[in-house]
Amino acid sequence: MGIEKTLSIIKPDGVRRNLVGKILSRFEEKNLRIVCTKMIHLSKSQAEGFYAIHSERPFFEELTTFMSSGPVVVSILEGENAVLHHREIMGATNPDDAEPGTIRGDFAESLGENTVHGSDSLENAIIECSYFFSETEIVNSTS
Ligand code: ADP
Ligand code: MG
Repeated sequence: MGIEKTLSIIKPDGVRRNLVGKILSRFEEKNLRIVCTKMIHLSKSQAEGFYAIHSERPFFEELTTFMSSGPVVVSILEGENAVLHHREIMGATNPDDAEPGTIRGDFAESLGENTVHGSDSLENAIIECSYFFSETEIVNSTS
């Protein structure tokens, strides 16, 4: 437990459907603080680098094509137990299994296009945050 940072991505389907504000406000309402954020359009190879952990999975090509199909919003969220708390706010990977009231339960349309990404461990959160943001871009929210 304690204060953690985690990486959040609003995927191309979420940006395309104009859900950026709605999704970011869910994080704020649930006590996660946005400590940096930006919109970027990933190249195919940047998406492949980010999801390298899944490179042997059958859905890797579909996933990286989708993630580079339009702009995404990447943010670092900070708060108590942020990695797990953010995963709970997102809901299950497959929207069919995601509870109503979670982002995926309310907005996601398919397993592949499931609107949001969140780091799955503190270790991966550190790697993922530094994939997108340099140290000087991350504000110290307590200052
Ligand atoms: P999560 O995003 O919940 O951490 P995973 O790390 O298991 O889920 O998978 C990464 C992403 O790959 C998922 O969010 C989803 O977009 C996609 N994905 C996972 N499984 C499949 C699948 N069977 N078919 C297509 N896309 C998938
Ligand atoms: Mg994952």
